[in-house]
Order: sequence, then C-alpha cells, then structure tokens
Amino acid sequence: MTIGKIIDGKAYAAGLRDTVAEGVTAFAAQAGRKPGLAVVLVGEDPASSVYVRSKGKMTVAVGMESYEFKRPVSIGQDDLLDLIAELNQDDRIDGILVQLPLPDHIDEASVIAAIDPAKDVDGFHVVNAGRLATGQEALVPCTPMGCIMLLKDELGDLSGLEAVVVGRSNIVGKPMAQLLLAESCTVTIAHSRTRDIASIVHRADIVVAAVGRAEMVKGEWIKPGATVIDVGINRVTDTEDGKSRIVGDVATAEALAHVRAITPVPGGVGPMTIAVLLRNTLVAAHARAGLAKPEGL
Ligand code: NDP
Repeated sequence: MTIGKIIDGKAYAAGLRDTVAEGVTAFAAQAGRKPGLAVVLVGEDPASSVYVRSKGKMTVAVGMESYEFKRPVSIGQDDLLDLIAELNQDDRIDGILVQLPLPDHIDEASVIAAIDPAKDVDGFHVVNAGRLATGQEALVPCTPMGCIMLLKDELGDLSGLEAVVVGRSNIVGKPMAQLLLAESCTVTIAHSRTRDIASIVHRADIVVAAVGRAEMVKGEWIKPGATVIDVGINRVTDTEDGKSRIVGDVATAEALAHVRAITPVPGGVGPMTIAVLLRNTLVAAHARAGLAKPEGL
C-alpha cells in the first residue's frame, strides 16, 4: 500500500515569512517607513489573547511595526467604531485586524464594514469579497489564501481539476471556492444540507475540508490520488489519560492510504494563516504607498 505525502505547512509558512521579511526591508528603503499592522482585541478571551500575542511577535519578527489595541469587553459599539476610524486615518498603519469573535452586544458586520478596504488585511470587507468574486485585485482572507498557496506549490497548474470545498463560511469556504474558480478548477461547494456528501467528495481531485467537525471526512470518501487540504481545528478528548488533542476535519490516518498529499493538523494550514496575514499587510503597504506589488507575493 502506498502512503500519501504529508504537506509541510509549517516549513512553507516559514519560507513565506522569510520572503515577507525581505519585502519589508525593500519597502522600508523605498517608502522611508516600516509597514504597520494594528490588531484590535476586545475582552480577554484566552484563545484570542494567545493568537494576538503570536501575531504581534511574528509581525515584529518580519520587521514590521506591531500596534495592539486592547479594549475591555464592556466597550460600546460606537467607541469601537471610533477606534477603527482613527486607525483608518493613521498613516503608520497599513493593516487593521479586529480579532473575532466580538462580544454579543457588538455587531461584527458593522465593525468589519467600518474598516478601510485598503487596510482590510483579513479580507472580510464586502468590497474585498466582491473584488475577489469579480476577479479584481483584492485582499483575500488569510486561511483560504494559505490553502491555495499550498495547493499550487504541490500541484502546479490547477486548471481543469475537480475541486470540492466542504463548508461555506464567509471566512473560509466561500473565498476558497472563489480562489479555486480563479485557478480554473471545476468547483463544488458542499455544506450541511448537501445530500450524499461522500460521493461528491469522491469526485474531487482537490478536497478542502472547512467544517469544524472532528474527522468527518472519511478515508474511503477520498478518490485515489486526490490532494486534501484540512482546515479544521477541533479539540477532542478521546484518550485513556483524558488529555485533549487537536484533530482536523479529515480522518487523516485513513485518508493517507488514498491521497496523493494531505495537510496534517496541526502543522498544515494553521501556520499559513499568520504568514499570509503578514503577506497581506506588506501587499497593502505597497498599494497604499503607490508601489508595485513585490515579486513572489
Ligand atoms: P463555520 O462554522 O463558520 O462553517 C462551517 C461550515 O461547515 C458551514 O458552511 C456548515 O454548513 C458546514 N457544515 C457543518 N456541518 C456539516 C456537515 N455535517 N456536513 C457538511 N457540511 C457541514 O466554520 P469556519 O469556516 O469558520 O471554520 C471551519 C473549520 O476551520 C473550523 O474547524 C475552524 O476552527 C477551522 N479554521 C481554521 C483556521 C486555520 O487557521 N487553520 C482558520 C479558520 C477556521 P452550513 O453553512 O450549511 O451550516
């Protein structure tokens, strides 16, 4: 039995961060300032705090300025919108990221809509979603952008391939489908109402699983030789010692016997997300400074 390849997202992400760091040096020489990324954190959710800290560290590590704006969970929507308006006006800041989820009393859509699309490095603003859908230059959500980079690195030309995306969120599934379509794949989006999902997944040369259900995609669903991108991050407690572990949306051990290549969880898509965030910030900085997009990004 042949075993498929494990795609090393960690190594690819490290290479991408190195390319970004070189681009930051070149940008600073041309523009006379470093690119700046502002991260807004509302409340003290432990997982969000960990993400924000590691984003800050990696931002500094590639030579960019990192700005953190922590606000109490009790902040009112108007005050949060005022902060976004200030950051929109601040010339030192090229990218604005509002860490989600926000507290229930704040309307996420209004906050995202308030971000200047030119600084929307998460790519969640409807202007960027619309640009992506209509084939225009856009800031693209980081996770699906990371997935398409891994796919192109693994497969080269994706044109004509049959792709199935499981999941239709605005953050992952929909932009992923748009990116695959832009690469001339034949794209199907499956979701919770899809009938006979196993046979739909079995058609695919490329499977992207972004569901949030531990190991839902079974090995036997995968067409022999398909490439699988597992976006899921699910914490499960199923070992005798009661310790939890992280698994993806794909039953990886089973799938390995069928796939050409697959991303592991952890160490696949996860590390790409922050690396692409830094890439998007550098791209936004160039656009704001009227400079051409750097080579290789
Ligand atoms: P959402 O919960 O927003 O979307 C999940 C999607 O999966 C929905 O479209 C839903 O369908 C679909 N779905 C749910 N159950 C089923 C089912 N039984 N069969 C088929 N489809 C189903 O999640 P996200 O898109 O935000 O995230 C997906 C996963 O990716 C999560 O595990 C998340 O933690 C992970 N993630 C990882 C990131 C990374 O950096 N690696 C970044 C972002 C997310 P419907 O629309 O019909 O309800």
